[in-house]
Amino acid sequence: MTQNPHRGRTVIRGAQVLTQDPALGDLPEADVLVVDGEIAEIGPGLSVADAEEIDAAGKILIPGFVDTHRHTWQSLVRHLATDWTLGQYFTGIHFGLSKHYRPEDTEIANLLGALEALNAGVTTLVDWSHNLETPAHADAAIAGLRESGLRAVFAHGGGATMWAVPNDVRHTRDVLRIQREHFGGSDTSGLLTLAFAARGPQFAPGQATLDDWELARELGVRITVHVGDGEWGRSGPVRFMREHGLTGPNVTYVHCNTLSDEELRIIADTGGTASVSADIESQMGHGWPATGRLLEAGIRPSLSIDVCSSTSGDMFNAMKTTISLQRALDNAATDNADGQVGVKLRCSDVLEFATVRGAIATGLDDRIGSVTVGKQADLVLLSTSGLGTTPLNNPVGAIVYSGNIGMVDTVLVAGNVVKRDGALLRDDLESIRRRATDARDELFERARAEEATADARIGGAWLPGALSAS
Ligand SMILES: [Zn+2]
Repeated sequence: MTQNPHRGRTVIRGAQVLTQDPALGDLPEADVLVVDGEIAEIGPGLSVADAEEIDAAGKILIPGFVDTHRHTWQSLVRHLATDWTLGQYFTGIHFGLSKHYRPEDTEIANLLGALEALNAGVTTLVDWSHNLETPAHADAAIAGLRESGLRAVFAHGGGATMWAVPNDVRHTRDVLRIQREHFGGSDTSGLLTLAFAARGPQFAPGQATLDDWELARELGVRITVHVGDGEWGRSGPVRFMREHGLTGPNVTYVHCNTLSDEELRIIADTGGTASVSADIESQMGHGWPATGRLLEAGIRPSLSIDVCSSTSGDMFNAMKTTISLQRALDNAATDNADGQVGVKLRCSDVLEFATVRGAIATGLDDRIGSVTVGKQADLVLLSTSGLGTTPLNNPVGAIVYSGNIGMVDTVLVAGNVVKRDGALLRDDLESIRRRATDARDELFERARAEEATADARIGGAWLPGALSAS
């Protein structure tokens, strides 16, 4: 990471700024002054002396993307499950390879995953960390995030064994130590926040769920929970939460595909937020992404990647899958045979979901999510010089339909430039690659020795466990 020699002052010159701030809208050409990590001034031709200058002519400036749900520990097993069913994913990864992770594997996986996110313009990541079998794993997961320089919400989800269904195990109270040791004022960077990743009614029996929520209340942190994924999600998880006083504005509901309309109304009425992982949901059979139904209920969702074992870790793909599937649903529902039905979900909507709605869902919207004076300078400059974005006629449409990691030219987190001219500003990327690959090799060696999961990394041909015959 570079140290800014200009006493923490940076000015970004001449960008087309899509602020995502309703009061500011889109600015065709503006400068943004950053002072001590905060956005200090926005406007055309700012008169600024003694600041590091970033020439952004011809580039688009947006707030950094916010991914509200990613199981970052799976970075080491990326793309392993792209042809697997949900059942195979549970057998092979969630309850299979997970138990062979050593703390150092979790650390490098989180560092790798966080850098992957930063490189793609994701400046805030909810690390939905649910393979924390020991306290050392949790410490390592946090160390990996901290080392990356990304803004993160560490959502403590306990160990994989806690997730076996059914079981009566309570969420580990080690999360209290985690809060004390890692979030008790010692985080001088201000980039990390703690959240509680609850199993919720679909994964834990009633009393265990109530006890888990009690623990989350003791911590006083936000809660994120999977609900409404697949047939299982029709069991009324949100109704259960409502009946037991577990709903509220501090809860983010991940997926929501098969929740009833009544349950979506409960989420809206209690001020909850939602996270849609459209690609994984369609791939793993969770049901149609709930984007349109959430909007009808009055909930503007955030977006998330979910698992890099099955999909890419960038929000461009997340936005495009979200809008494509919802448009298909909308057109099918209206029998749009003559192609005359208007577009309901717009590109500007999904860009809002990927930025400011993510900020709201993490409870950080007073600090991030838009290009607004007083907010943290979590900013992304997108190059538009590629053939696929020339000439630039519609910047928002270009981002949503042609956006890709190659366009991510510059990334700032709290004013720190972490990527410039298309490259992450670290000199240890080669050693990180090597550490991750070695960790992957050894992970599979341990799995192979115990479970005959041979060739798991070769050609993606391995299918886990008893399901391999299908
Ligand atoms: Zn998930």
